[in-house]
Amino acid sequence: MSILAGKDFGAPFSADVDVVVVGSGAGGAIVARELARAGHAVLVVEEGSHHAPESYARMTPSEALKNLAREAGLGIAMGLGDTPLMSVMAGKCVGGSSVLTGGVCFRIPDEVLHAWSTALGLGDMTPEALDPYFAQLERDLQIETVADAMRSRSTELFVEGADKMGVVMKSLKRNAPRCKGASRCNFGCPHGAKMSVDVSVLPEARDRGVVILTDALVETIDVERGAARGVAGTFVGTGVRFAIRARVVVAACGALHTPLLLRKSGLGTAHVGRNLTLHPAFRVGALFDERVEGWDGAMQSVYSDHFADEGLTLVSAYTAPSVLAAAFPGVGRSHRALVRAIPHLAFFGAMIHDDPGGTVRRWLSREPLVTYRMSARDRLRLFRGIEVLGELAFAAGARAVLLPIFGMAPVRSRAELHALVASPPPAKKVECMSFHPLGSAKMSRDPRAGVVKPTGETWSVDNLFVADGSVLPTSIGVNSQLPVMAVAMKIARGICERFEVYARRAA
Ligand SMILES: Cc1cc2nc3c(=O)[nH]c(=O)nc-3n(C[C@H](O)[C@H](O)[C@H](O)COP(=O)(O)OP(=O)(O)OC[C@H]3O[C@@H](n4cnc5c(N)ncnc54)[C@H](O)[C@@H]3O)c2cc1C
Repeated sequence: MSILAGKDFGAPFSADVDVVVVGSGAGGAIVARELARAGHAVLVVEEGSHHAPESYARMTPSEALKNLAREAGLGIAMGLGDTPLMSVMAGKCVGGSSVLTGGVCFRIPDEVLHAWSTALGLGDMTPEALDPYFAQLERDLQIETVADAMRSRSTELFVEGADKMGVVMKSLKRNAPRCKGASRCNFGCPHGAKMSVDVSVLPEARDRGVVILTDALVETIDVERGAARGVAGTFVGTGVRFAIRARVVVAACGALHTPLLLRKSGLGTAHVGRNLTLHPAFRVGALFDERVEGWDGAMQSVYSDHFADEGLTLVSAYTAPSVLAAAFPGVGRSHRALVRAIPHLAFFGAMIHDDPGGTVRRWLSREPLVTYRMSARDRLRLFRGIEVLGELAFAAGARAVLLPIFGMAPVRSRAELHALVASPPPAKKVECMSFHPLGSAKMSRDPRAGVVKPTGETWSVDNLFVADGSVLPTSIGVNSQLPVMAVAMKIARGICERFEVYARRAA
């Protein structure tokens, strides 16, 4: 009963609850559970469908993208100026993007929190203040350090290269305690081993009475006398309407969609949809004489913060061979040669701790128009990252290195690599991806500088909260699921503490 599929409703649906949460991803799931723990009646409204782990375990990568990801994984951020066109992935299912993660879990780095709490004046965003939330999440999500035995040969080779260069690699922490090393986390764990929120958080929420309404697109937030009083929308596929009354509304649609909902509801201040950061990510392939079979092992197992001062985090990454093949350069014979070489290829990735160059806008379709202008500083970081990864590959003994530059043949020597970096092609030729959109409804101490207060309540409307990646005021330089959850948990606890105030306002 606790999951109601909106697409099965033949007639309009309405409900009256304490709190309605829009979005069941990393942020929304945590908020729903925290409020249910405090005894509130909570309804979660999710645009995507519910797929049980046993069901997505059997999906092919393309089926998984179609069923679990937004725009079947083909969303993009349009590059403005000399900026790569970036694919931007996000989830659209019960559990949101958390279902698609590589399971990597980081706390927000202390330096980032220091900047938030001092330069941005968000005084209670300190490592000490957030420690209890992170500690609890680490228990809830069964976060563990990845054992060395789970490293794929692909990762081992890059670690060997790093050792030779004096670059320190460290084991990652992940929320996949029973990982069997199938290397296809981004399509939903095939073994139900990843503690995405559909598996780890929402079951408890449902046990505590939370109802999840799926296939239900929230279109507007209803406001009465300056306070949010509910949401309304349509069931996907049927167009049947629903309306939920609530004393508190929490938008947790993710950084790409919360701004759309706020704007569509007429609640946008100038900052809504601005300040988007993307953690532009890229990977380098390395061809070895030995058989690497990089798919055998944890998809992600090590990282390096060695270049953090240069705005780069290195993270091991692999993906399904079919997906790799689709991204290779060349056509016909040259493409086939690379595809045949997949068993001999190792991969490693990096992401940029980026400036806020992105904007999210409503336009013709349901999906946002996302634009992103990469700063000059980040363009330097991009090519520095490519150079570092290429160096690691050659240090590990790679015969050739596949750089993430569209149309470029593999480079076969350090000299070729350095020549390329010394005189780089336009950044727009670099193949970049984003998995961590953040910051588009920024938290700030000052209504003139952001969208939500430090409590998560919007500056423009009472009783309306945002609790997802969009409130993080800057990029963080590390993977974002745990940071989003910790901030959402803090916001949820604040709502619980002051719930009577909000309920009185709504009365
Ligand atoms: C492929 C991939 C790999 C990743 N890997 C990692 C990783 O290894 N480690 C890590 O830390 N992070 C990772 N991330 C990032 C992490 O998943 C996100 O930072 C986190 O899930 C963001 O949480 P959120 O609550 O902001 O949004 P989401 O988790 O995206 O949830 C938003 C939900 O809201 C729903 N929604 C949106 N609009 C509406 C509406 N109007 N009405 C109803 N519902 C709506 C969406 O369908 C979605 O389910 C990855 C992300 C992706 C896509």
